[in-house]
Amino acid sequence: MPSIAQPAVKTGVTHLFIPGPTNIPESVRQAMNVPMQDMRAPDFGDLTLGLFDDLRRVFRTETGRVILYPGSGTGAWEAAITNTLSPGDKVLMSRQGQFSALWVAMARHLELDVEVVDVAWGAGTPVKEFARRLQDDTEGRIKAVFVTHNETATGVTSDVAGVRRALDEAYHDALLFVDAVSSLASLDFRMDDWRVDLAVSGSQKGLMLPAGLGILAISQRALEASRTARSRRAYFRFEDMLKPNETGYFPYTPPTQLLVGLRASLDRIFAEGLENVIARHHRLAEGVRRGVAAWGLGLVAEHPSLYSDTVSAVRVPQGVDAREVIRTAYHRFRTSLGTGLGPLDGRAFRIGHLGDLNEVMCLSALGAAEMALVTAGARIELGAGVGAAQAHYCDAGPAARQPIAIAAE
Ligand SMILES: *Cc1c(COP(=O)(O)O)cnc(C)c1O
Repeated sequence: MPSIAQPAVKTGVTHLFIPGPTNIPESVRQAMNVPMQDMRAPDFGDLTLGLFDDLRRVFRTETGRVILYPGSGTGAWEAAITNTLSPGDKVLMSRQGQFSALWVAMARHLELDVEVVDVAWGAGTPVKEFARRLQDDTEGRIKAVFVTHNETATGVTSDVAGVRRALDEAYHDALLFVDAVSSLASLDFRMDDWRVDLAVSGSQKGLMLPAGLGILAISQRALEASRTARSRRAYFRFEDMLKPNETGYFPYTPPTQLLVGLRASLDRIFAEGLENVIARHHRLAEGVRRGVAAWGLGLVAEHPSLYSDTVSAVRVPQGVDAREVIRTAYHRFRTSLGTGLGPLDGRAFRIGHLGDLNEVMCLSALGAAEMALVTAGARIELGAGVGAAQAHYCDAGPAARQPIAIAAE
């Protein structure tokens, strides 16, 4: 690795374009700077009850319950499994990247009988193959089907509604588990419409907070299943949490500052409008993708229908080491890009484009990536990606529709 001179003083900001933790809005960061609170105070529910209601709106569920565990998305995965399934239960899962692979590994640690469908990294959840296996399962041995809505390692968004249709068409009553860690509050997610039973998320992605909350939305069917499921669970027992939650309290110490921050981030999301948040992610992502196309590089995602609006995994050209691109971006241009995970190590880097983000931030991500790519030996034209994204943002934004008023004297 060539030695890179480190400046004595770091000026300006460090740029963060990884798919979580994401950038935290300044107002949310400031909101969390509060003294410690009494989590048994008589008015504590004034804060927490609204959070449960508003998170239901983000998950788009009217009948589901939301739990906030101190932890991260991975903890919420575990809570979802141990509360609703029993050792030896057959479950249907696919592996299409690092996160779906880790969920399979966890399910096995928890002694589920996992039927895995391996697909290429870059493909989505194989809906047709799932449909076939569900049709074949006439005895109903499959107790749950798992979908990673947005595979963060590959930048692939899968068709959760399609999996729900496959279940319905097979008249199959398996529970539907969805990992929504890198999709909630940034991609279209519909718990009730898709009849998702367990939706898992975390605080540090679309919700624009520090890591520290494992967030779970649970359907009434899943709550029913939790009454008879036999997996061992202690800290994560739903019932221990749900009872005190009804009046806004927790059975153990909640991270109160994160809850205050969550209030602030939810307020921002609703002020912008959830639909607008989702549309913004699409517009920004599309600009990034046009930039990548202008470099002549490809995405790991196999097909445009799979492109993720929260993260793009970019394949580097032959002879270029993606690790070098990431190192150069970080050391020389103070920009964090996401690494290539698992088999993509060295072959791809990722641009996280979710959370508190705007057009110019995306241009800076592309600009830094361009410089790092060229430094690492890629033959791309400097400015090509930035220009393509600029063209998209001008056309797609309201600014382009305003007539330009230049005094013509
Ligand atoms: C980030 C992420 C996780 C893991 O969440 P943690 O909060 O790091 O435990 C799981 N699944 C997906 C799709 C993710 O993007």
